[in-house]
Amino acid sequence: MTQSRPPICNYEGSDYQTSFWEQGGRLYEDQAEAIALQRLLPDTGNLLLELGAGAGRNTQRYIGYKQVVLLDYSLTQLQQAMERLGRNQRYIYVAADIYKLPFVDGLFDTATMIRTLHHLVEPKAALQQVRRVLLPKATFILEYANKQNIKAMLRYFLRQQKWSPYSLESVEFEKLNFDFHPKMVRKWLLESGFHLHEQLAVSYFRLGVVKNHLPLALLLKMDSWLQPTGNICQFSPSVFTRSHAAGNTPQEASGTFFRCPACESIDIKPHGFRIICNSCNRDWPIRDGIFDFRLVEE
Ligand SMILES: [Zn+2]
Repeated sequence: MTQSRPPICNYEGSDYQTSFWEQGGRLYEDQAEAIALQRLLPDTGNLLLELGAGAGRNTQRYIGYKQVVLLDYSLTQLQQAMERLGRNQRYIYVAADIYKLPFVDGLFDTATMIRTLHHLVEPKAALQQVRRVLLPKATFILEYANKQNIKAMLRYFLRQQKWSPYSLESVEFEKLNFDFHPKMVRKWLLESGFHLHEQLAVSYFRLGVVKNHLPLALLLKMDSWLQPTGNICQFSPSVFTRSHAAGNTPQEASGTFFRCPACESIDIKPHGFRIICNSCNRDWPIRDGIFDFRLVEE
């Protein structure tokens, strides 16, 4: 049943939130992302899907939304998110494979995917799944790591780097860590049924030398000024995009929510601490408040 699934970057057991964000001196990146999100995200909405939510670093930024579904492949990341955000009807925690989203068609009015696409071997397949679960005209905020960034261009020019930042193919700079060419991301978005509206160039000052010698407030001010240039050219390490779901989406009856990720049936009901699929008879556990729809135990 999982023969064709691409490998997944799993943060199970990782202290990524603490080591990378809280102790890693990445306040500038975090705040620059907050500015970009505020620019792109509609102020209010009903149901937002946060893909690759991790430990919920961005979740508190979705204050105008009635409910947020935090989706991640890693159970431990979601447990950390739950510790941070609490058990609250506003938050639904779902462990699942991004290539097999366990939701009915046309469910969400908004989705975000930040620092997640760069872990995906098949980005277009994932974007098609995202499109499937969105309502027509839903907003989709996608962030990706840009291979055509100033540092890579400089290193390539100085012959310190073999791969070309200008070629269209993705570069895997570390196992399951990819940088993409902006042209390719735009192509995947279009082919997956999205209409691109806005691009922001984010984190131009990520280089340690710059970051460590200028005050944070100044860095953020400069980042904020430069972000809209992303609509003209993208040479920043991180790019934020805002698209809407184009065309129509088949929509399931109201009241339906989950879909079996194995057999795609929507005849799926909660029963105690499990969700049972009446079509294929699989059951999906609810582990301490987290819906676990992962197909393979690891
Ligand atoms: Zn099933």
